[in-house]
Amino acid sequence: MRGHMINRLVTLVVLSVFVCWGHTQAAEPGARPNIIFILTDDIGYGDLGCYGANCVKTPNLDRLAREGTRFTDAHATATVCTPTRYAFLTGRYAWRQPGTGIAPGDQPLLIKPGTATVASVLKSAGYRTGVVGKWHLGLGEPPKTDFNKELKPGPLELGFDYAFLIPATGDRVPCVFVENHRVVGYDPADPIQVSFGKRIGDAPTGADPGVNLKIKGGPGHKDSIVNGISRIGFMTGGKAAHWVDEDIADTLAAKAVKFIEASKGGPFFLYLSPHDIHEPMVPHPRFRGTSECGWRGDVIHQLDGTVGEVLASLDRLNLAASTLVIFTSDNGAAIKNTYDDGTNALHGRQPPNGKLRGSKGTLYEGGHRVPFLARWPGRIAPGGVSGQLMGHIDALATFAALTGQQLPADAGPDSFNALPALLGEKAAQPARDHLVLQNNGQTPLALREGDWALVEKGGRRPRAPGGPTYELYNLADDLVQATDLAAKETQRVRDMSVRLERIRQQGHSRVGAQIDSR
Ligand code: CA
Repeated sequence: MRGHMINRLVTLVVLSVFVCWGHTQAAEPGARPNIIFILTDDIGYGDLGCYGANCVKTPNLDRLAREGTRFTDAHATATVCTPTRYAFLTGRYAWRQPGTGIAPGDQPLLIKPGTATVASVLKSAGYRTGVVGKWHLGLGEPPKTDFNKELKPGPLELGFDYAFLIPATGDRVPCVFVENHRVVGYDPADPIQVSFGKRIGDAPTGADPGVNLKIKGGPGHKDSIVNGISRIGFMTGGKAAHWVDEDIADTLAAKAVKFIEASKGGPFFLYLSPHDIHEPMVPHPRFRGTSECGWRGDVIHQLDGTVGEVLASLDRLNLAASTLVIFTSDNGAAIKNTYDDGTNALHGRQPPNGKLRGSKGTLYEGGHRVPFLARWPGRIAPGGVSGQLMGHIDALATFAALTGQQLPADAGPDSFNALPALLGEKAAQPARDHLVLQNNGQTPLALREGDWALVEKGGRRPRAPGGPTYELYNLADDLVQATDLAAKETQRVRDMSVRLERIRQQGHSRVGAQIDSR
């Protein structure tokens, strides 16, 4: 009897807490939340505490998991930066547009102005829109970006009201920030030139003997030296504008917080794209030695600090309850740094992609299955875990649905409305029954369908003599992709390869989306 009463009491307390939580924190029904989408760089499935990491501490990211839902089957649609970011912003698979592989530092804008983007859709819905961090989708007009001029078209021509950018990557020139249309700290007396291929300027490079470097660059990373680190590509001029790698995270966090503060009247959309943990991994001195995984772990701590700054600003401005925060990564973790930073030897302590096979640049799960955390108090269950199949490419249709926007017929041809799955609604059908994954170009691709993963091998063109060959895995009981079932499941391979080819040929994968001729 006593036990029974205690049980009832516990039930009542739990119910009251739930009701209080709902009343005090819930967003107004139909209210449109602020949206912060944090798309970080090269964080793997095993890199965060809330996904099982044990050599790092990620209290702020773990807080997001505790106060929101942790997704276990979410994917970047590509295994490298540029195509993932293209697909996220446009809702269109990047392999549909040749030339969207990893972009050089002087790449003109890869997305045609006028294309519907996550930013333009939310801007139409009355949101103030900003992007802070790594861009890597090109800037300016063909044939090559001129960093001495106004850098347009760029994000401001794609629906963003504000932009503060690393133009390409941390390991590429130019090593300068761009704010809206201009290089930050630009000096007309010291014009900027960049070159990918031909050496320019007289300064020593990472390939010259006897140069003093903070960390030694490996193959492809031995060109111009900026801040004691050799990069991909050559750069002259712009000395007053050079970034300091150790300060990049702080700079981006400060710009993100400033944007949030300036937009607090809402609604706002912030696409925050941290540099961490892409190489060169150069933590600020206050993070050095704080992890058990060398500088790689230290920059994970730095990334967690950036997320902490953002969450603290939402708390300070009383915006936490009215803001949807999503955190995810643009591809799986790299397991072989080209810089000699001593971290490659430490992966045994904490496998960057957890148990998953493969890594950045491979079509196995480790290349594209990534952490994905979503918090929206009162709308997304705290402490939830969801196994729904999710893709970053669904942001366009999902945010359109969230804000009551009708997508134009040719917008986001591969973007599905994943809102019910994101919110964890009980009756929700899966947002999608399939997802196409890519590497760095048009081929090879992989097709996920239910629990099955079909991975194209070999042939660059599927209709070339012999065509592609395939591997097939059943992720339901073989998440680590140890057993290739292609020879056993020939009919399934045939069916899935036909479906993949149809998706490839028809120009869209969402029913109702028009064939896109861009
Ligand atoms: Ca990346």
